[in-house]
Amino acid sequence: MKVLVLNTGSSSIKYELFRMDDWQSLTEGIVERIGERSSERADRGEGVERGDVEPVADHHQGMRRIGQMLTESQALTNAGELFAIGHRVVHGGDEFQKPTMIDATVIEAIRRQIPLAPLHNPANVIGIEAASAAYPGVPQVAVFDTAFHQTMPPHAYRYAVPEFVYREHHVRRYGFHGTSHLYVAKEAAKHLKRSLDSLNLITLHLGNGASVTAIENGQSIDTSMGMTPLEGLIMGTRCGDLDPAVVFYLATALRVTNDELESMLNRESGLKGICGDNDMRLVLQRMADGDSQARLAVEMFAYRVRKYIGAYYALLGSVDAVVFTAGIGENSPRVRAACCEGLAPLGIAIDPQRNGDVCGGNREIREIQSEQVACRVLVIPTDEELEIARQTVEVVTTSHIV
Ligand code: ADP
Repeated sequence: MKVLVLNTGSSSIKYELFRMDDWQSLTEGIVERIGERSSERADRGEGVERGDVEPVADHHQGMRRIGQMLTESQALTNAGELFAIGHRVVHGGDEFQKPTMIDATVIEAIRRQIPLAPLHNPANVIGIEAASAAYPGVPQVAVFDTAFHQTMPPHAYRYAVPEFVYREHHVRRYGFHGTSHLYVAKEAAKHLKRSLDSLNLITLHLGNGASVTAIENGQSIDTSMGMTPLEGLIMGTRCGDLDPAVVFYLATALRVTNDELESMLNRESGLKGICGDNDMRLVLQRMADGDSQARLAVEMFAYRVRKYIGAYYALLGSVDAVVFTAGIGENSPRVRAACCEGLAPLGIAIDPQRNGDVCGGNREIREIQSEQVACRVLVIPTDEELEIARQTVEVVTTSHIV
C-alpha cells in the first residue's frame, strides 16, 4: 500500500508518494501556477517532466492532473493502492495537538484558524476538498505545523498583552516547522540510541524560513516562531524579532498601510533587507568576495541563532545535542561554525574538520562536535514529507475507521 502526501499552496500543489513497506519515496512533483499558465513537474518514477502545459483552472483540476501523473509514472496504478492521504496544514491553532483524521468537523476547525493564517489555511482546505473529490473513500489526515509545539507551557506561549486579547482573539505563540523539528528529533534519538523522551535537544531549522526549538524530554517547551512565522530568527526575507513599536513608527513615518508593512516585514526584510539577497549561497559568495553588507547579514543571522541557543540552554539546563537541519543548516559549514562560535563554555563546540568534511547532498546523519565537549552537534537532513506520511499511517492505523 502507498501514502500520498500533499502540500497545497494558494497556486500550487506539491505531492510525494511513499511505499509503506519500506518508506521509499516512489515519485514526487508539483503542479504550479494554478489559475494562470500552469506548469507541472514529476521528478522521479518514470521522470515525466514538462513545463508550460495547458492551463490548470483550479485545485480540483490540479488534483486530477496529479492523479494522471501518478498513473503515467506507474507509481500508482489504481486508487485502491492508496492507503491514505496526508495533508500538510500550516495552522492548527490551539485546537489540534496532534495529527488528525479529517472529517467535516475537522475541516470546519481548520477554517476557524484562517484569521491566524490567512495565506495558508484557505489553500490547505481547498487541497483537502480537491483530494477528497479525486479519491473518495481514501482516509485523509491533517498534519499540522503547529501541533508539536502545543506542549509549550503558558509562560512560554503567552504574550504579555491584556488577557482578553488572548482569550477572545487567540493571540499567543503557536510555533511552526513542527513536523521538521519532530522529524529531526526522532532521527537524533535513533542515531544516539536513546528514547526521544529521555533527550534534551536544541533543533535549528535553518532554511529560507528559520526557527529553533527547545526540546525537553522529547517535548517542545519553547520555539522561536510565534503567533505567525514572522517572529524569532532572521530569515531569507522575514525580519524575525523586532521591537513592535517599529511597526507603529513606520506606519506614520512612511504613511503605509498594514498590508504594505506586513509585506515589507515578511518579504523585503531578513537577509534580503540587510544585503539585497535572500539566498544564503549568494550571500556567502558575496561575503567571500569582500562585500561588507553580505558579511553583516551573515553575522546578524548567526548572532541571532547564538542568542537563542544560549537562551534555550538556560531553559533546558543540560543539552544532549544541538541539531542543524534544512537548506542552510544541512549545507553550510560556514554558517554552522558562526552559529556555535564562543559557545564552548556551554559545552557546545564544532570540530572544524568534521564540520568542513560534510559535503552537500549527503543524506546521512553526521556528528560535527569537537572531541573536547560533551554536547553532540548533529547535522540531520530533514524530511517533512516522510514525517507526514508516517504520521498519516499511524493516525489511520490507530483509528477505528480502517
Ligand atoms: P525552504 O524554507 O524554502 O524549504 P530550504 O530548506 O530549501 O528552504 O533552504 C533554502 C536556503 O538554504 C537558501 O537560503 C539557500 O541558499 C540555502 N542553501 C542551500 N544550499 C546551501 C549551501 N550549500 N550553502 C549555503 N546555503 C545553502
